[in-house]
Amino acid sequence: MTLSVKASESPATPPRHNPLEVLNAEFDQAAKVLRLEDDLHELLKTPYRELHVQIPVRMDNGTLKIFKGYRIQHNAVRGPYKGGVRYHHEVDRDEVLALAVLMTWKTAVVNIPFGGAKGGVECDPTKLTRNELRQITRGYIGKIGHIIGPQRDIPAPDVNTNEQTMAWMMDEWGKMNGYQPAIVTGKPVALGGSLGRREATGRGVVMNIEEACRMLRIDLSRTTAVVQGFGNVGSFAAKFLVEAGAKVVGASDVGGGVYNPKGLDVPALTAHVAEAKTVVGFRDAEQITGDHLFDLPCDIFVPAALGGVITEKTAPKIRARLVAEGANNPCTKQGDEILRDRGITVIPDILCNAGGVTVSYFEWVQNLQQYRWTEERVNEELGLVLKKAFLDVHEQATRHNIPHRAAAWVLAIQRVAEATRLRVI
Ligand code: NAD
Repeated sequence: MTLSVKASESPATPPRHNPLEVLNAEFDQAAKVLRLEDDLHELLKTPYRELHVQIPVRMDNGTLKIFKGYRIQHNAVRGPYKGGVRYHHEVDRDEVLALAVLMTWKTAVVNIPFGGAKGGVECDPTKLTRNELRQITRGYIGKIGHIIGPQRDIPAPDVNTNEQTMAWMMDEWGKMNGYQPAIVTGKPVALGGSLGRREATGRGVVMNIEEACRMLRIDLSRTTAVVQGFGNVGSFAAKFLVEAGAKVVGASDVGGGVYNPKGLDVPALTAHVAEAKTVVGFRDAEQITGDHLFDLPCDIFVPAALGGVITEKTAPKIRARLVAEGANNPCTKQGDEILRDRGITVIPDILCNAGGVTVSYFEWVQNLQQYRWTEERVNEELGLVLKKAFLDVHEQATRHNIPHRAAAWVLAIQRVAEATRLRVI
């Protein structure tokens, strides 16, 4: 198994990779294993719809600024399109398309009735006020509102978007279409969000790590872990790793990293980040660069930032036995190959970080039923879905004698291909 991230803002930024190339190669390889028909191959690779929009915003200083927004719908043969919306200054069409494609396979791996889509706005949220962010969000929904809907396409948070962003999206869409919380997931609980959604991706990463450790006969409670990115996914992955008995020795974010070989105090680090907005400056730890994180001795490495970070330069340095892809597309093609050749097991993104979309599915179900599940029920059902998915992927890996990443793709393509044969062809 393997992984990758795009580290764009750090001084030690790796060269930008095109995630679409990696995904196309994965797809071709898995399609070969499945002996997929040529026409189906072509159909499944082609996105259904791409919408590029302009979002004019009157900035707080009175100037008018035009932002570029995207919503790309890849495949909806198994259910409505589903995928997050990313705000980042490097968002572009290829990245959004790659992330949309990934959603199709992710929802299929965990066997929830959704397809794949993704959205993005090219902007730097660190330089925007709350008022400007609200205007961008409302403007974005105004422009894409006609192609989304609770039975069409359901957005969610991603990098630099959060519960507040979803609240604005729900409100804006509701102005045109009436009150409908099922239009987005990842909402605040007070507006129909699901209990457990905030933690779900990080929790799911650790549930996958637990399964992988069982498979590899590793005692998780005696392991050390390093986490790259300390936002939603990274901070909760660190929390649940500690709860499972592992020691989190290193963590980083866009500003830099911290290291303590005896184990970081993760609750204290989380409190520090809430205040300082960065891991940098955390007491009781050595301050390191983001690059140095790859050199740290550990058993488990969790990339939980952006794509394209595990490259031909960084993959040879990783000292972990297991890489758990919290981020989407963290490996470049070369990075992935190096990890595989070095015998490092990778839990692939479409399995490893699928806890978020799974609980988004539970949120959608609760909204449509106008009913609320307990947090215990959410976590229990999440565990059932992810365990089944991990075992299904492992079974494919064993049957075809292929790495877990390829196995996850084979499983996903099989499911989407079957639905397409029944519904479309
Ligand atoms: P977030 O915005 O909450 O956090 C991102 C973190 O990455 C921040 O700590 C940021 O400082 C850090 N970061 C950014 N650039 C970095 C760099 N160059 N080096 C080191 N750290 C850097 O985002 P998130 O929701 O936690 O998402 C993280 C990753 O997980 C993304 O790849 C996203 O697509 C993926 N993902 C998120 C979810 C979810 O539910 N949030 C679900 C599936 C996958």
